Amino acid sequence: MKRLVWFRGKDLRVNDHRPLFDAQDSAACVFVLDPFFFQAQRARRMSNRMAYLLESLRELETSIASLGGQLLLVEGRSTEVIPKLAEELHVDEVVAYRWTEPFGRERDRRVEEALTVPLRLYEGETLMPPGALRTKAGGPFSVFTPFYRSFRKSFEPTTPVPAPAKIRPIRAPLSLNVRSVPNPNELGLRPSPQRIGGGEAAARARLDEFIDGKLSGYQIQRDVMGVPGTSRLSQDLKFGTLSAHTLWQRITSSGLQAADVEAYCRELVWRDFSHSCLWHHPDLLERPFRPQWANFPWAVNPEGWGRWISGHTGYPIVDAASRQLLQTGFVHNRARMIAASFLTKHLRISYRCGEAHYLTHLTDGDWAQNNAGWQWAAGCGCDSQPYFRVFNPELQGKRFDPDGAYVRRFVPELAALEDRDIHAPWKAPAARLAAAGVTLGETYPHPVVDHAKARKDYLDLVRAHIQSPPHRK
Ligand SMILES: Cc1cc2nc3c(=O)[nH]c(=O)nc-3n(C[C@H](O)[C@H](O)[C@H](O)COP(=O)(O)OP(=O)(O)OC[C@H]3O[C@@H](n4cnc5c(N)ncnc54)[C@H](O)[C@@H]3O)c2cc1C
Repeated sequence: MKRLVWFRGKDLRVNDHRPLFDAQDSAACVFVLDPFFFQAQRARRMSNRMAYLLESLRELETSIASLGGQLLLVEGRSTEVIPKLAEELHVDEVVAYRWTEPFGRERDRRVEEALTVPLRLYEGETLMPPGALRTKAGGPFSVFTPFYRSFRKSFEPTTPVPAPAKIRPIRAPLSLNVRSVPNPNELGLRPSPQRIGGGEAAARARLDEFIDGKLSGYQIQRDVMGVPGTSRLSQDLKFGTLSAHTLWQRITSSGLQAADVEAYCRELVWRDFSHSCLWHHPDLLERPFRPQWANFPWAVNPEGWGRWISGHTGYPIVDAASRQLLQTGFVHNRARMIAASFLTKHLRISYRCGEAHYLTHLTDGDWAQNNAGWQWAAGCGCDSQPYFRVFNPELQGKRFDPDGAYVRRFVPELAALEDRDIHAPWKAPAARLAAAGVTLGETYPHPVVDHAKARKDYLDLVRAHIQSPPHRK
C-alpha cells in the first residue's frame, strides 16, 4: 500500500511515529508550509515557536533522508497541496496524527472532502485519544480528579515503535514546487537567544537528563521556581519531537521513587485533560467554560497591562515571571499561575489578553494547554481555581522562591536585597533598601496596586456579577 505521510508540526520525529512506521515500505513524506502559520508577519510574531519548528523540521528532513526517504516541503494551503500530492503520487491513503483544535479538525474535514483516497488519522498526540473518557452518565469530564481516576482505570500504555529501519520512497514527477526548510531570516524571526532549541535529538537528550537527575525529587522540587526542578519537555511534547507515549513509558519504567513518578504522570494527565476539554468544548478558545464569565466586566487598564507585560508591577515574583517569558520564551508553571492570577484578579484584565500574550512568546505555547492554564487561573475554566482564591504574590514568592533565586535571576535590580525583603521591597526599611542599591520609584517601581485592596475590589465585583448576572436577565 502506498501512503502519503503528512507531518503537521505536532509530530516532528521519526521515533514512535506510527503513521511513518506503518508506511515505511512505500511512503512519501510531506510537510506543508501553510500560510496559516508561515505567512511572514504571523510567523514573526511567534518567533520562539517558529524557530523551534524550523530547527525541528531541518532535523526531521535529515533523519528521513538518512533512512532513505525524502521530506517534501511544499508551500500552499493544506486543503489544496495534500489532495494534489496524493493524486500525483498515486497513493492509496494519506496518514497523519489527529489534531484536537477546532481549526485543525475543520482543516482535516476539508482535506478529507477534497481527497479521492482516505485520510487516516492516528491517535497519539495525547496518552488517550481526546474524547475517549466519559463520565458514568456518558458526558465529558469537567473535573480533573475523576478524569484522572478514570484515566488510571482505562489507560493501557502502548509500547513506542522505533524509527523505521528504512523508508522505501515513492517517487513521481511533481507539478508542485518542492523547497527547502525556510531560513529564520527569510521569515524575519527574532527568537530569544535564551530559548530552548528544537529537534528530536535534543528532546531525547533532555528526557535522558531529566530521568538521570531531576525526576528524583520532582514531587517537591517542581514548585520551586529558582531551581531547575522540572523536565522542560513541554515544547517537545507540543511539537512532538518526543511522543507522549515514549515519555510515559520512560518515566514509568525509570525505577525511581513512586511518589516522583506518580507526580510526573499526574502532570502528563493534566495535559490530556486540557486536550479532552477542548475536544468536547471546541468553543473554549473563544469563550470561558463557565457561562457566567462570558460578560464579566474586565477592566481596560493600559497602565496595568504595560507594567505587567514588561515586568514592572512592583511585585517581584510577578515581574520575574513576565521577564522570564520575554527573555527565554518559557515561564515556570508556578510563576505562570501567580502571574496569570495577578493579571486577572489584581489588575482585572481579561484572561484572553494574557492568553494571547503567552501564546505569542512561549516556545511551548499550545492552544489547549495555554487556554486551560489561563481559564484555570481566571477561575472560569474546567476545574479551575475558585474565583475567591486570590494568590498573594508576596506569600507565593516567600513559599516557592524562599531564597529569592528566581527573582534575583530575572529582576537583577533587586538582586542585592536580603532574602527577607526580596518578595516585598515596599516593606523593607529605607536603610536595607539603600544598602541593596534599591530606590523605590526609581530603580524599581512601587506596587501598581495594593494587594489587600485589589483583592477586596475584585471579590466585590465578582460577587456582584455572580449575584446579579446580566447573562440570566
Ligand atoms: C497560565 C498558564 C499557561 C500555560 N500555558 C501552557 C502552554 O502554552 N503550553 C504548555 O505545554 N503548558 C502550559 N501550561 C502548563 C505548564 O505551565 C507547563 O506545561 C509547564 O510549566 C512546562 O514545564 P515543564 O515541561 O518543565 O513541566 P513539568 O513539570 O516537567 O511537567 C511535565 C509535562 O506535564 C505537562 N504539564 C505540566 N504542568 C501542567 C499543567 N499545569 N497543565 C497541563 N499540563 C501540564 C506538560 O506537558 C509538561 O511538559 C500553562 C499553565 C498556566 C498556569
